[in-house]
Amino acid sequence: MFTDAPSPFDHPKADIILRSSDYVYFRVFRLFLSLASPFFEAMFELPQPSVHDSGDEIKDGLVVIPVTEDSRTLDHLLRFCYPSTLAEDPNLEDLTDVVQVSEAARKYSLELIEKKVGNALGNQAILEKEPFRAFAVACGSRMEDETRTAARYTLRHPLMPPKVKELELITAIDLRQLLHYHAKCADAVQTLTSLSWMEYHYRATGDRWLTDVYHYGEHCDCPRTNKYRFKDNSTPPDWWAEYMDATWIALRDRPSGTTVLNGLDEAVKKARSRCSRCGYRVLEHMTEFTRVFADAVENLTTEVGHHIRKLSHRD
Ligand SMILES: [Zn+2]
Repeated sequence: MFTDAPSPFDHPKADIILRSSDYVYFRVFRLFLSLASPFFEAMFELPQPSVHDSGDEIKDGLVVIPVTEDSRTLDHLLRFCYPSTLAEDPNLEDLTDVVQVSEAARKYSLELIEKKVGNALGNQAILEKEPFRAFAVACGSRMEDETRTAARYTLRHPLMPPKVKELELITAIDLRQLLHYHAKCADAVQTLTSLSWMEYHYRATGDRWLTDVYHYGEHCDCPRTNKYRFKDNSTPPDWWAEYMDATWIALRDRPSGTTVLNGLDEAVKKARSRCSRCGYRVLEHMTEFTRVFADAVENLTTEVGHHIRKLSHRD
């Protein structure tokens, strides 16, 4: 129930104790907190009532100040306040931590720390896992770069954002901007159906792995389809056409390079089950092909991002 915080917040020479909402006692030095925050500085400058006649909780002869943050948030916050020789800045990989520490930093006027916490929004793990929440937090805090980055990661997901609490942090205009960006990217990506990017990439090496029924001296048994035709009127294997059809549909909803890469395994599996010749080389060829395809998608959505300004501005 009542516990003591771990090192370095258990220092015997500490001069004040902060008690978290879940009853963990943090022994801290006023000086570090005062230097980091005008809020703490002002609080500690108030005449401290004598230990004997105040109603304050006293522990080991030190005044205990109750705070509303829980121990996890307080631990993170204090590590940011302490000099790095005593406590390293925490690596925030959970968005809930980011939100809570950031709120606490704002409350205690820890501006520099608020900024540092904001940088955690650029954390890859957070962006991959919860881009919408990261977007809402960054946008709600008017952090332009982080907002843009998070918006890019939302392209890996369907247009309709999940219901997350942080959506309360942004306005309907902000949300509209995000949906607009998503829709623009989806439109832009559909222009790739011309396959000119593919022609460009294979201009030197050729796309014979896709079009030749005789290749490397072996006959390809892949069933062919007329659905896609290349310039010499050659036709690709049906598993490739199926991959492309499915990918165009998926890209409408999730216009991101990862969407292109997601279909790779299934395409390879199909090719291997339908053709003995393609079984050998399909992984190599399709890995190259999907990388080029994904790059083309990413280049286009980057371009759209440049044209959509002020993702995090309120005008
Ligand atoms: Zn084949």
